[in-house]
Order: sequence, then C-alpha cells, then structure tokens
Amino acid sequence: MRPMTSGASIVDLGKRCGRLVWPPACGVCGGATPAIEPTPGELVSLVAPGGDAELCERCAHALALGADDVVDVCSRCASPVGRFLGGPRCRRCGWCRHRRLGFARAVALGPYEGILAEAVIALKYRNRHALARSMAARLAPRVRSALSSSLPRRPAPVAVAWVPAHWTRRVARGYNQAEMLGSALAKALDVTPLPGGGLARRRRTPALLHLGADDRLAAVRGAFTPRRRARAALAERPVVVLVDDVLTSGATLGACARALRDAGARRVLAAVIARRTTEP
Ligand SMILES: [Zn+2]
Ligand SMILES: [Zn+2]
Repeated sequence: MRPMTSGASIVDLGKRCGRLVWPPACGVCGGATPAIEPTPGELVSLVAPGGDAELCERCAHALALGADDVVDVCSRCASPVGRFLGGPRCRRCGWCRHRRLGFARAVALGPYEGILAEAVIALKYRNRHALARSMAARLAPRVRSALSSSLPRRPAPVAVAWVPAHWTRRVARGYNQAEMLGSALAKALDVTPLPGGGLARRRRTPALLHLGADDRLAAVRGAFTPRRRARAALAERPVVVLVDDVLTSGATLGACARALRDAGARRVLAAVIARRTTEP
C-alpha cells in the first residue's frame, strides 16, 4: 500500500475519485470505460494506476488477445515470422538479414493492425496521455526481458530516449507522441530519460512510408543530433531504450540510434507500440 503523503498522490486521488462520477472515455475508441468500484474502507486502492480502466472492454480484450502472438517475431526487428524462426534465439529474419538497422534489437506490442493501429492513431492525433501510460505499462515487461536477454553478462545502467519531432510539428500538434510514450515508458521502467529525450531533430523530414529504401535513408541522414547534456548522461547510462510509436522501415529509428551511438550509447534497443510491415 502506497502512503499518501505527496501532493501528487492527493491530486491523483482527486482524479480517481472524479472518475467515480465521470468515467473517462476509452483512450482508443472513445467508448465507455468500466466504472471504478471503490472497496469499502480502502480508499487508497483508488490511487493505484488504472491499467485497463483507461480502455473499454472491447479494446482491453483485443489488446490481451494480441499479446498471445508475441513469440513469433524476429527478435532483431520485431517482424512477424514463422513459428520456428521467432523467439529469443532468432538472430535475423528474411527482412532484416541484409540490413544494418542501427539499433541492436526491437520490441513491439504486435503488428500494426486492428487495435494497435487504432491505438497509434489515437495517440498521434488525439493527445491521449492515459493511453500512452497504458501502452507503456504493456511494453515495459517486454523491454525488461529484451534488455536482460541481450545483455546477460554486461548489464549496464539504462536510459530512455525518444524520436524527436521537429519544433514546427510540435507547435502545430502541441505534443510529440513519441515523447509522451517515452516518458510513460521511462516511468514504467523506473529509469530516467536522457535530458530533453536525448535527441533533437535538425530539420523536418518528409513522410517516409512511400519512399524507396535509399530515399528513406537519404531523407533522415544527419537529421538527428544529440542534445548537449545527453553525452554526459550517456557516459553514465550507456544502454538506451529508444521509443517511437511505430517501426516501419527502421530508417528513422536507425538514424536516431546512430546519433545516440555517436554520442556514447553502447547499445540501443528500439521500443514501439506496433511493427508495420507493408513494405517489401
Ligand atoms: Zn475502446
Ligand atoms: Zn528481422
């Protein structure tokens, strides 16, 4: 049981109590979420993080179903693969076998479809903080297990970074969904983010989805630079969990990972909500 001494806990309690009267809409579809049932005589239970209380029953159920499919993915790029290729011993699937990704491995909640695609869109366009927390809570155990299996002999202090948005986009949208997710994941992992998220975006980059592989790499080359105080932090915490909402070609995450490695990161693990595999 967590003692309620800080101001933050009291604010949190207020929010939780408010939810008894006005249950929030589902972070993904906007539907009604389950009402909180207070336990008589145990008001403190309301302070506990809501978890699935941020999602309606349909979305929570769909996410739980998707969680069963995680073993059959490439451990390096998180692509869905055949049943005998996936899992921790898989080194490289057909897609990433001949690619230099920039990051050591990637963790996703699942393929970019159904509920995960809906969640990514809700996070990107509807400013859903609660949804970011909910996704981060699901990602955290997978990140922890990827970290411990990829660094079994040389565990090192971990930091969290995220793919930065160009300032013009941040101003237009009001937030960066990768930052929202990265901050939530850092909290869920109980690690400190790199100062300012670690990286800055020097210039706006075009949408990469319909570009060829070479054009994508050219579009992001040199687009990211480490923030001034990130180097000092990386000297102390050289393993980085780099967060974005989606991994598609890996060009953006790869460019960010290279910038972090140039600034002193020893190993970079990419963590995303969904793995999109529409390209050949
Ligand atoms: Zn829903
Ligand atoms: Zn792969």
